[in-house]
Amino acid sequence: MRKIAVLTSGGDAPGMNAAVRAVVRTGIYHGLEVFGIPRGYQGLLNGTLTPMSLGSVADIIQRGGTILYTARCEEFKSEQGQQRGLEVLRENGIEGLVVIGGDGSFRGAERLAKLGMPTIGVPATIDNDIACCDLTIGFDTAVQTAIEAIDKIRDTATSHDRTFVVEVMGRHAGDIALHVGLAGGAESILIPEVPFNLETVIHKLERGVARGKKHSIIVVAEGAGRGMEIGKYLQEHTGLDVRVTVLGHIQRGGPPTARDRVLASQLGAFAVELLLAGEGGKMAGRQDGRLCAVDFETVFHTPRKPDGYLFDLADKLSI
Ligand code: ATP
Repeated sequence: MRKIAVLTSGGDAPGMNAAVRAVVRTGIYHGLEVFGIPRGYQGLLNGTLTPMSLGSVADIIQRGGTILYTARCEEFKSEQGQQRGLEVLRENGIEGLVVIGGDGSFRGAERLAKLGMPTIGVPATIDNDIACCDLTIGFDTAVQTAIEAIDKIRDTATSHDRTFVVEVMGRHAGDIALHVGLAGGAESILIPEVPFNLETVIHKLERGVARGKKHSIIVVAEGAGRGMEIGKYLQEHTGLDVRVTVLGHIQRGGPPTARDRVLASQLGAFAVELLLAGEGGKMAGRQDGRLCAVDFETVFHTPRKPDGYLFDLADKLSI
């Protein structure tokens, strides 16, 4: 193997740059030529491949976003698009590809692998919604960003005796809400994977008020319901002064935490080593603290569950 390429795809996540750096530097360390493909699969279809040098990834390990940019590309979901992507890679002499992104990006990577291009996926998405790996790149930073916001909201909630509903990201997975809710001492945590009843939330709020509690925080994952609607409902049914904060895209930005940088460096380097070992069609992940290569098929078919222990613990501690 002499030439490999790397792209970032789907939603951006802090730590993607550290992963790109690790891919480029590990590749060059092993004597490979490494090419960057800007703007994910769209860039691939456009045929824009850029040679990456050691210096091209200098000073990026601490930066959020992705220097390769990212995009969503409908065309690549079609067989024709995938075939065209394969042709572009072959025309440029690329013999292996690293795709840094989430579940959707892995589906594209799997298609390329099935067409004969050795492709390895590196899990990077703030939602932590990929099976068979402990953590995805970006999750730790997103949780850190959200918890800093919640600590600030708590200050104002306490000063004004207010109840706050804080909506965090997580369309299908409530991991951000669960971790932020537990770490932020939230009274209730609403996540898409666990059915909930707003009457229970109200009951808990009223029980708190009865024992002299004057402020509360409810964390809701966007996939569990809209913060605005939940806030309105709670205000109407309790008479409490309820305010809503939607954290939004702030959770995607910012310098990655040390933990995300370490994970991204490990997984980026491991992805290249897998390609060199002749592997393809796999995710480079870390499970129970150890690096592991898992077939995309297995990743797609393994159900992902939120951490039930943490969920119960958060509930117990917010009694
Ligand atoms: P995030 O979890 O942050 O949203 P993601 O990688 O899951 O990231 P998606 O928008 O689902 O983001 O997918 C990114 C891109 O991957 C899509 O725009 C498309 O180009 C490609 N992709 C998604 N699903 C498929 C599929 N079934 N087959 C081929 N390519 C796909």
